[in-house]
Amino acid sequence: MDLINGQQPKKERLEPCPGTLYIVGTPIGNLGDLSPRATSILKTVSLIACEDTRRSGQLLKIIESKVPLLSYHKHNFKSRQSQLLEILGNDGSVALISDAGLPGINDPGEELVRVARFKNYDVICIPGPCAATTALVISGLPSERFCFEGFLPKKQSIRRKRLDDISHETRTTIIYESPHQLINLLEELSISCGKERPMQIARELTKRYEQMIGKTIGEVLQYFITNKPKGEFTIVLGGTKNKQENKISESEALNKLNRLIKLGEKSNTAARKISEETGYERKWLYSKLHKKLDK
Ligand code: SAM
Repeated sequence: MDLINGQQPKKERLEPCPGTLYIVGTPIGNLGDLSPRATSILKTVSLIACEDTRRSGQLLKIIESKVPLLSYHKHNFKSRQSQLLEILGNDGSVALISDAGLPGINDPGEELVRVARFKNYDVICIPGPCAATTALVISGLPSERFCFEGFLPKKQSIRRKRLDDISHETRTTIIYESPHQLINLLEELSISCGKERPMQIARELTKRYEQMIGKTIGEVLQYFITNKPKGEFTIVLGGTKNKQENKISESEALNKLNRLIKLGEKSNTAARKISEETGYERKWLYSKLHKKLDK
């Protein structure tokens, strides 16, 4: 047991402790990544809350856990919470797991932890794999300071703003994306950050066909245009070197373009000039030409 401030803690805790919520990391592909401590907790708590009982049932079968499972996901978490808190209140212990990785990182967990803490129950994390940090540390991109975006919002107005923020971010940014949306997102990032921005995509981390694809947005996009995205992907995007890069917003760039055309410049020449000036892609500017942004 570690010393805390030079003193031995009063008593060593035997796990699982009564009235404790355990947030347990599970493998993101390779079953060998389930830690001995996680295995022990998953065999001894009173109940395991999980996203998908069938999927987690397979993991529990492998480790020969007989602990009952209760589904806990984004559609039922509100109604399940009181049930889980009641177990903690009766001196039971609960483990929360997700389909893969660390609960609370783009998976259910945050809300349950919040209410458990609010009710003064102990919350303990049994750390395990997380796709975001796993991808980051093998990307070769700066990891001293980084930020995590998870999945980008779907609503167009919020998404455009988020893409704009990401393009100005100086730290490495980590993004999750599904295979069928990957090319669309890469095209958006190529427009907002420019094709030359460093990028590495981690595919199928910890699995048999694990792969790293890089080195720039342009190269990654080209790769996936030729090789249909299959599997799971985590994007690691280099930060901007220059805070001034793409310093004007998309609508400002389009306004400049429209003004130049009104002054008599040919469309394709205007798109090229504004592309050189702003860093936005000529083709993208050209495709937006008929949008009237000037008020
Ligand atoms: N809680 C999980 C964690 O800690 O990594 C993340 C869950 S989130 C719902 C699922 C996303 O994580 C996937 O769409 C993908 O972007 C990323 N991901 C999960 N497993 C991965 C893997 N083996 N390789 C690459 N990315 C992965």
